[in-house]
Amino acid sequence: MTSSTSLRRVALAVLLVTSQTLVGSAAYAARNDAPLAQAALETEPVASRGDAADDPAIWVNPADPAVSLVIGTDKSRGLNVYRLDGTLVQSLPDGRMNNVDLRDGFALGERRVTVVAASDRDRDAVALYLVAPDTQTLVGIGDGVLATGLTRIYGLCMYAEPASGRQFVFVNDKDGRYQQHELEARPGGRIGLRLVREFRLARQPEGCAADDELGWLYVGEEATGFYRLSAAPDAAVTLDRVDRTGSGRLVADVEGISIYRASGGEGYLLVSSQGDDAYAVYRRRPPNEYVGRFRIGDGAVDGVTSTDGIDVTSRPLPAPFTEGLLVVQDDRNTSPRAPQNFKLVPWNEVRRALALDR
Ligand code: CA
Ligand code: CA
Ligand code: CA
Ligand code: CA
Repeated sequence: MTSSTSLRRVALAVLLVTSQTLVGSAAYAARNDAPLAQAALETEPVASRGDAADDPAIWVNPADPAVSLVIGTDKSRGLNVYRLDGTLVQSLPDGRMNNVDLRDGFALGERRVTVVAASDRDRDAVALYLVAPDTQTLVGIGDGVLATGLTRIYGLCMYAEPASGRQFVFVNDKDGRYQQHELEARPGGRIGLRLVREFRLARQPEGCAADDELGWLYVGEEATGFYRLSAAPDAAVTLDRVDRTGSGRLVADVEGISIYRASGGEGYLLVSSQGDDAYAVYRRRPPNEYVGRFRIGDGAVDGVTSTDGIDVTSRPLPAPFTEGLLVVQDDRNTSPRAPQNFKLVPWNEVRRALALDR
């Protein structure tokens, strides 16, 4: 090789590296121009390595909000229960739980109980638990294995119908099938499921969220966007598309969906735009007008990327969560480097990032 050839090669290599860096940073800037919120703290890492943490649910303890809980799935192992400071208080190695949700106020005999439901990929079943109010731990309450008949169970969310007091679990299959089951009190103080409605999406679903007060169900289709339909068990299934990937607002996969409930039916709908590490925000009331997007950057704990499940509450919790709490799964838990976990974001961080009224 002559020295001029090797010089040309070095120059070419430098040019290639430089142009790749420029292209890379330009793409990054274009994708990630959303304003930043910061997490206040994080949970302990899950026990499983790899892609394992998936979906959180927040339980606000009415007797003492300071001892509220965050329940999170480890989709290789089971459920974890955390305090608001992120410490692990209970680990239930009950199966590959993918998504989790909960509702207060289910009538079980004379008691009103908080029911936690999770989609169990080991059994294609719904796992049900109570929150024991005295110990703030989960106790199994399902009437045996509540098999669904689905073959690749995936996403899950719950719905409580305020007028009737009836409660429901929505579950989906990777093939697009959706089922709506009603919770029913069974003899012996256990809870069973009764299938009340079925429908289907064209493509793979996962995340969903029901708006109890307004009666809507929001369902994501990972590759394409998300839809709104009536959550009522006897309603016709009419899928109204709210937003789509490729809109500049959502980048596949469309993952977790959750609702920040303000008074009078106002508030926000949050959707994880997993493909560009962001969250899209819409008005809670239909037609769910788009409000903005944000990301979660480095702060007291490392920033958040490639989020699966989310949950948000507007109920006041101890500082810094006095305006509510957003919990998100974090794909890369980097400081210190550890298995995946969940990050806890004060709602006022989201409100500030998007300049929301409340
Ligand atoms: Ca993941
Ligand atoms: Ca997914
Ligand atoms: Ca991170
Ligand atoms: Ca997921």
